[in-house]
Amino acid sequence: MKKQKKTWKEYMWILSALYLFLGLFNVLFAWLGLLCFTIPLAMAILGKGKSYCNTYCGRGQLLDLMGNKMKLSKYNNIPKFLKSKWFRYGFLIFFMTMFINMLFMTYLVFNQTNSLKEVITILWTFKMPWKVANVSMVSPWVAQFAFGFYSIMLTSTILGVVTMLLYKPRSWCVYCPMGTITHIISKAKYKENM
Ligand code: SF4
Repeated sequence: MKKQKKTWKEYMWILSALYLFLGLFNVLFAWLGLLCFTIPLAMAILGKGKSYCNTYCGRGQLLDLMGNKMKLSKYNNIPKFLKSKWFRYGFLIFFMTMFINMLFMTYLVFNQTNSLKEVITILWTFKMPWKVANVSMVSPWVAQFAFGFYSIMLTSTILGVVTMLLYKPRSWCVYCPMGTITHIISKAKYKENM
């Protein structure tokens, strides 16, 4: 059988990997990660269901690549509790609370209550001072948002990789907050069109 030619959509993982890599050298690249929030939401709202997850998500592809092609995954079944509604929705609520907290921290820097903290926070707990790039060319709140957002992206990537190592390659997708939100929107749209 003739091998199907790969399309550009199958290389989105390169953008995801590049994003994380560039962010380490200049945290301002973190702003680009907003595309990973807005595009899946817009697609789901426009009735495209989960086509972002199925076709365009670079992180999903990256986990697939590491788990399947590089054989890093243990291929265990993901524990039932991670698949349960209460965990997926609970994690979404927790994730959104942390996201709003990050926006609030950005606001405090914007209104000059707080000063810029050049710190990357891993797993919402471990704080690493990160002064690799000079961010003085932008307003402090712009840099603060970048530090906060990059911390979220790095944290979710770490969770995704750990889940990939322990279970099946794309197990993170079971409780990924973006996946849960697009699932909720798609379900609502489906009911709306019935
Ligand atoms: S569930 Fe999350 S990580 Fe998985 S494909 Fe969808 S957006 Fe990407």
